[in-house]
Amino acid sequence: MLRQVAEGVLIHQSEFVQSNAVVVQGRAGVLLVDPGVQGHEMTCLVNDLADMGQTVVVGFSTHPDWDHLLWHAELGSAPRYGTARCADTVRTYRSDPQWKDQIADHLPPDAEQVPLDLLGLITGLPAETTRIPWDGPDVQIIEHQAHAPGHAALLIEESGVLVAGDMLSDVLVPMLDLDATDPIGDYLAALRLFEGVAGNVDVLVPGHGSVGGASQLRTRIDQDRVYVQALNDADAGAPDDPRIGPSAKPGWEWVSDVHEGQLQRLAQRTERNGTPG
Ligand SMILES: [Zn+2]
Repeated sequence: MLRQVAEGVLIHQSEFVQSNAVVVQGRAGVLLVDPGVQGHEMTCLVNDLADMGQTVVVGFSTHPDWDHLLWHAELGSAPRYGTARCADTVRTYRSDPQWKDQIADHLPPDAEQVPLDLLGLITGLPAETTRIPWDGPDVQIIEHQAHAPGHAALLIEESGVLVAGDMLSDVLVPMLDLDATDPIGDYLAALRLFEGVAGNVDVLVPGHGSVGGASQLRTRIDQDRVYVQALNDADAGAPDDPRIGPSAKPGWEWVSDVHEGQLQRLAQRTERNGTPG
């Protein structure tokens, strides 16, 4: 079910990792960001839009992870965009003949129908693009190098909504792009970018987890900075973070495994390079 989070901005939540699709009302239809996961959830979204007399006129994927790239035939054939780096990354993995099998390994066991055919059929916006090209409220593209190549948050200035993609979640710890040259530095730089726009944000919509207000935005920036800095300091011990360890919510214990995995890979990098980070 669509739920309004600000004037002209609605979200539709999927069961898988509390994924949030975002709908922004334009003049002749809606912008749809990260549509959702299971087929029946996207059909539900299509029906909700039809009830409002709306169709999708443009799509956007915040980053090149499968759960942000899905699409359903019933959503129609609007142009779908991502940053240039996001689109390049998707093109590369779609060119592997085994790509569907590789994604299937990541699908949840109960995701009985995740439609993969239209996954990632996006057009890269030229690198200098700062706004989504469409007939609707200004949507600023805030690209940064953290979590995944070409990751972009969106700021809907008029309504003060920040669509954060896989950043600033209350349920997932920061997940670094461990293939990048400087994953820690990239992540901290992205958090500074968010800090820079925080004064214009009233509503934060993370790709996974709960919607928050302006004070939640600042809390999550601080919490994520503490977490990332702790990753960088091998002697610091486990960060005191509500998303991992004994304080993790029931059903979310696997986030601690994500954390352990990151610690291990960072340690391997340090061994290989002889330098931290
Ligand atoms: Zn995600």
